[in-house]
Amino acid sequence: MTQETAVLSAKPEMALESAAVRKVFVKTYGCQMNVYDSDRMTDALAKDGYVATDVMEDADLVLLNTCHIREKAAEKVYSALGRLRELKKKKAGEGREMMIGVAGCVAQAEGDEILRRAPAVDLVIGPQTYHRLPEALKRVKRGERVLETDYAIEDKFEHLPAPDKAKTRARGVTAFLTVQEGCDKFCTFCVVPYTRGSEVSRPVAQIVSEAQKLVDGGVREITLLGQNVNAWHGSGPNGEKWGLGELLHRLSEIEGLARLRYTTSHPRDMDDSLIAAHRDLPQLMPYLHLPIQSGSNRILKAMNRRHTTAEYIALIARIKAARPDLALSGDFIVGFPGETDEDFADTLSLVETVGYAQAFSFKYSTRPGTPGADLEDQVPEDVKANRLERLQALLLKQQHAFAEQCVGKTIDLLLEKPGRMPGQLIGRSPWLQSVNVDAKSSQIGDIIRVRITGTGPNSLFAEVVS
Ligand code: SF4
Repeated sequence: MTQETAVLSAKPEMALESAAVRKVFVKTYGCQMNVYDSDRMTDALAKDGYVATDVMEDADLVLLNTCHIREKAAEKVYSALGRLRELKKKKAGEGREMMIGVAGCVAQAEGDEILRRAPAVDLVIGPQTYHRLPEALKRVKRGERVLETDYAIEDKFEHLPAPDKAKTRARGVTAFLTVQEGCDKFCTFCVVPYTRGSEVSRPVAQIVSEAQKLVDGGVREITLLGQNVNAWHGSGPNGEKWGLGELLHRLSEIEGLARLRYTTSHPRDMDDSLIAAHRDLPQLMPYLHLPIQSGSNRILKAMNRRHTTAEYIALIARIKAARPDLALSGDFIVGFPGETDEDFADTLSLVETVGYAQAFSFKYSTRPGTPGADLEDQVPEDVKANRLERLQALLLKQQHAFAEQCVGKTIDLLLEKPGRMPGQLIGRSPWLQSVNVDAKSSQIGDIIRVRITGTGPNSLFAEVVS
């Protein structure tokens, strides 16, 4: 694609605000990468005097960082924009200006349409062009309505300003770090290859530098992000080919970086070096999100997943041989077009075989532009709802069983933030569970030994082991 910006229409010059401090409210929808991008956008705007606010009514700029993965995502954005239009009008009546921007995957997919349907929107900016946000806002101030969605492939990681040290400290001891964007797998239900584009890996030097900055800002645990993160590839110091396993080795050398994770992975891209990293790196946490989506080979083929259930199960056996305490998380879609009762029974059977510590499951819904949307033989809503209920009951049972198995174990706990009760902190277990423990707030960021004493609906309880 070419680098290009578009001015769709001009509107009367807006009065420039003289206030030194301007406030930005960012509403984030969807995945962890959007959470990461929202933080980076806020960091980029800080250089222009913007501070983040949690109160939308106070904001000079409201940014919706949208997600296109769920059904009717675009419609939800339009209804949010309808409410924002009223707020903008009200504030204009009080002599206060408010700019409205739309970012994220809906912006990328529907940029022109958003500007056409939502006249209150000042700016539409796609996920690969966030580095142009400050300049785009200046153009809005000059009276333009701005569409910034086209990008050159080599720009792809320029949209990620380095994390700000002070803000990193304020955000806590765990952080995301994007290392890869886009996807070439083209699963037939998924919009990601169309909204985030083809797979691009971030260079090693950029990743290491950002990780170091995060650690300098107090971060102890980093989760590497990518739509297909284990497809990451790059070059080592002598030009040798690196995969995610080698990158994890390099990051594990950063002093003070205690924990590493990565998400989301495709089973086809789990190579030998990545599996070995699970064996060799104590910093790599024993928890892996490895979606399969369905337990039926017929449906996996229709989804273009390019692997079978037997291959998936064999792969898990190999990873668990490398790291026996590994726990798994997954994603499931029920009611993909053509899914029969037998196909669904295969999914239940696969879940029983694998045993998940955690999983996300959804009813299939069509995404315009994806091959799945054109398939006949759509499954009736009531059938999908029934299957989802049964699958979720099984997954919840497994999640509780996994939590129960933890009771009595002594584990390392990363103390993350204050708990609900005075004198209590919430920590993160190696398996991504929230754990409540009595500890001092000065210990946030420490990793301590605790014994798990009990389970709650969504968390565990522990006592410190002296
Ligand atoms: S691998 Fe993941 S991101 Fe890529 S097309 Fe499939 S579901 Fe979408």
